[in-house]
Amino acid sequence: MRTAGINLEHTKKTNRLLILRLLCSGNGFSRAELARRTGLAKMTVSNITNELVKAGLIEPLAAEHQGAGRPPVRLGLTRRSPAEVGLFLRRDSCTGICATMDMEILSQVEFSLGPGETANTLLDKTESAIRYLVQHCENREVFGVGIAAMGPLDYARGELMTPPNFYNIRHVAMAETLRERLGIPVFLANDMDVSASVEKLYGKCVDLRNFVYVGLTNGVGAGLLLNNSLFLGNHGFAGELGHMTIDSAGPLCTCGNRGCLETYVSVPRIMQQFRRELGREFEDFGELCGFCEQDPAGAALLDTLLEKLSTALINLCNLTDPEAIVIGHSGALFTDSQLESIEKRVNQGILAKGLSKVQVMRSAFGTQASLYGAAALPLQQVFVGNLCYEKFFEITPPCPSKRKRRGQAPEPDPDSPEQELEPDLQVLEEPDEPDEQEEQQEEQEAI
Ligand SMILES: [Zn+2]
Repeated sequence: MRTAGINLEHTKKTNRLLILRLLCSGNGFSRAELARRTGLAKMTVSNITNELVKAGLIEPLAAEHQGAGRPPVRLGLTRRSPAEVGLFLRRDSCTGICATMDMEILSQVEFSLGPGETANTLLDKTESAIRYLVQHCENREVFGVGIAAMGPLDYARGELMTPPNFYNIRHVAMAETLRERLGIPVFLANDMDVSASVEKLYGKCVDLRNFVYVGLTNGVGAGLLLNNSLFLGNHGFAGELGHMTIDSAGPLCTCGNRGCLETYVSVPRIMQQFRRELGREFEDFGELCGFCEQDPAGAALLDTLLEKLSTALINLCNLTDPEAIVIGHSGALFTDSQLESIEKRVNQGILAKGLSKVQVMRSAFGTQASLYGAAALPLQQVFVGNLCYEKFFEITPPCPSKRKRRGQAPEPDPDSPEQELEPDLQVLEEPDEPDEQEEQQEEQEAI
């Protein structure tokens, strides 16, 4: 139950973020479309978009001529709009990008990790990569850094805890240390969770309320997006699909249990099975998937493994009742027919069979959802109110500067419903009526 009131400024900010979220999807929307998709009054949309245009965040896009009549003015992000940095940390390497808020990549780096790595060398390399990306962002302001990493992570502290097979590197406070060194907000999140989030923000699941992202890597993980929100669980450990038991009498798993999915299905396990049973070696997982399309013995072996994966997915569907399963990481390399076979098994096995089909689809980002998801992490923090973006633009009211100190975790948003608005922050002058003249002028300029 809500225990605090919602002030007008909070409502306005929420509406502004709704519009900004749509505009970041990169398609360019007219004011009428924004009103229709958000359910806001046209006047409210005009007021907010005028404000964002004045602040230099959005602008009318070049008009496309479509027959007679004036086409509607479509709005999109400007070249002044800020950028964000994302890094995907793996065991052997790290890839980083600097991207616009609508996910246009501005620059990219990669560095390797190997034996002898320590917490300090990891932090130093990561810092250098971020500094490079910040310097190669078309002179835009970088408003945040997202790092996607394998677990386990301490979400609250932004800490890499005890990742297995990671050079004995343990308990690294990555977010806080890098935030102190760089003076930019840094966020750390599980690679499966950011992958689910980015599918919701830009990918194939924009209009879905319930779906799961399943990534096949050295193990199997899942990001759960339920009721339009990422579900992390009590410790951020939700979605450890690889440790779902599918045979309690099965082989011993590294977690101490028996017959976990990961003891049968992961990229190394599948490659190992093909080596052992068919004597086949493959350069990469994509080659293996392609081989199985041509070779009956390969297809049969892969099918037994897809059956085990499908068993876990049926369990997951019975727990979460999703509209779709997005398969990503190396799982994006499965062929269409292999994905179809998973979809068929899942829909035959779930309790809700016959009600509506659970779609099984390849990630919109191929094998790279974690990298895009890392870059989108700061923007996600804006949308949930953990990161203030107004300071990059002259959008009123500004973030209270006394709450923002360099090198510190972002303070909770003062406009969140749980907190009172600061007494010195008032709704500043805003026209009650849309400025028709100005809107017409903008529209003419865009033609
Ligand atoms: Zn296990």
